[in-house]
Amino acid sequence: MSILAATATTPTPHPPALALIIPALLITITLGYLLVCWVRPFTPCKRCHGAGYRPSLLARHERLCRRCMGTGHQLRAGRRVLNYFRTLHDHGGHR
Ligand SMILES: [Zn+2]
Repeated sequence: MSILAATATTPTPHPPALALIIPALLITITLGYLLVCWVRPFTPCKRCHGAGYRPSLLARHERLCRRCMGTGHQLRAGRRVLNYFRTLHDHGGHR
């Protein structure tokens, strides 16, 4: 009987399957988000919830949202990154 036989551990049932599923899941989520950023680059403004205006604190009137400048939309963060790389590709450097 050898010494190594006493230190042998039982193998876990499916470590390679888990090692393949997690990167595949992360790649799928990333590609899905980039697809959403490509198809729908704008999202409703987080501050005014897409209305384009916000209630004023002191007066009883509403004022334009300064974050979206009254459009009610803002560019997704992923689309901003895609636009950066597109500009980098087109102009060959920073703007
Ligand atoms: Zn807004």
